Order: sequence, then structure tokens, then C-alpha cells
Amino acid sequence: MNNNNILEEFFVWEEKNLIDQNQNSLKNEKQDNSVTTIETKTNLMQNDWRDITDPKLRKKMRLREYHKNYRKTNKDKLKTQRKQRNYNNKNLLKIQRKEWYKNNKHKFKEKNKTRIEVSCKNCLKIFYVKLSYHNKYKRLFCSRKCYGEFRKFIPVNEQSAYKGVRKVGESKQIYHRRYVKKHPELIAHLKARRYARKKNADGSHTLKEWDDLIIRFDNKCAFCKETKKLTKDHIIPLSKGGSDFITNIQPLCRSCNSKKHNKI
Ligand SMILES: [Zn+2]
Ligand SMILES: [Zn+2]
Repeated sequence: MNNNNILEEFFVWEEKNLIDQNQNSLKNEKQDNSVTTIETKTNLMQNDWRDITDPKLRKKMRLREYHKNYRKTNKDKLKTQRKQRNYNNKNLLKIQRKEWYKNNKHKFKEKNKTRIEVSCKNCLKIFYVKLSYHNKYKRLFCSRKCYGEFRKFIPVNEQSAYKGVRKVGESKQIYHRRYVKKHPELIAHLKARRYARKKNADGSHTLKEWDDLIIRFDNKCAFCKETKKLTKDHIIPLSKGGSDFITNIQPLCRSCNSKKHNKI
């Protein structure tokens, strides 16, 4: 696992360097020559590594193929790993992102030229949006706060979130009760997330990730292997510093869960 990680990172680094070299060479050469360099590179990619005689290049291309296949087959695993890695380096990433924005300000100015100037419906502030957004939404707001303030004065049946769901004159309480009855799994998930947040647990997971986990366990309890109603169980309990990532969760039936209690 760790070996693969290191190899993968090395691979990404190497690829980046290759691109940098290519860009530098592009700058030096004229436009006509640059086309040929790109062509040769694509030709190399298409070639099978078994045909290459140069040992260094052969190894490189072999690794490239191996990693390509690895990334294809372990998509979900890599996704969760990336999520956790990003969470662990939260503060560092913040600083890096800020620096990047500082160095690439001119890019955003160019981007804004292709966008449309619109004014906020609530505070009349002028800002930029994509063309597609302009066609999609009738009313555009500079922030969620502005939207919230504007929304108070729209009649209920015109609010997009409640269109056809909440009836005219119906109280929010009754609508909410109906919603809870219709979506019991979502409500249970939200309750569990709230509990984890209260315990100051690291990380989070989505309802879809939990559904996928149940499918992977074939709708069976992880301990007694029986098909019963399943509940979430943290492998390392939240009270002992466990995280709320999906990697720390397993499906257990009620009786197994209460037997396990706060043991690891
Ligand atoms: Zn506004
Ligand atoms: Zn069980």
C-alpha cells in the first residue's frame, strides 16, 4: 500500500517535470517545430513498452502502464485516500492555494473577459458569471445571504425549492413532518453526522458512501453474517478518537453493535 503510494507520487512528479520541459522547449522553438515534438511524444505513449530497447525508457513506460491500470481498478480506494490526505494537510493546502492565486491573478482577469457582467437582484452589486449560469437561472445573486434576504419577499409558490412540493398556505412544520416520513434513511444519516460533529470527530462521509459499503458487505452484518437491519458502527469508537471517515465504519446488526459497545 505505502509502496504504491510513494510510486504514484513519484510518477505524478515525473509527469509534471516532463510537461515543464516540454513547455520550455516550446517557448524556445518556433510554432512549426513544436507540432512535431508533440507528435513524437504521443507516438511514444502509444507504443508498447515491450518493443522499446532502451532499458531506462522501457522501465518508465512499463511503470506508466502499470499505474494506469492501477488507477483504473482502484478508483474508489484512491478517492478516499486523497480525501483523507487532503484533510490531514488542510492548513498547508490553504497556504499553497493562496500563493497560487497571488501568482496567477492575470489568468483570472482574462477569464473574466469571457464572462458576463450582471447585477445582484438584491443589493445591485455588479459581478461576473458564466454564460451557462446566465441562461440557467432567472435571478442571480452575489451571495447566499443576498438570496436569503430576497427570498423572504417571494410568494411561497414561486420559491424554486418548494415548487410543487409545499402547498400554498401549508405550514413549514407539516411539510417537514411529511419530508421526514418520506426519507428515513437520510434523516438517520444526518442525525449520526450531527452526533459525530458534537464529539469533535475528524472527517465525514456521505450517504452514498454508506450505501456502497452495505452493498460491498452484501447486506450482511460484519460479525454474525446475518441479513438484518444494519446500523453504523465506528471501528475505532468516536469516544476514543476515531474519525468519521467511511474507512472507519462497518455495518453491524443491533445486537452485535450493543455487544461491541466501546471496544475496538
Ligand atoms: Zn447582493
Ligand atoms: Zn450481527
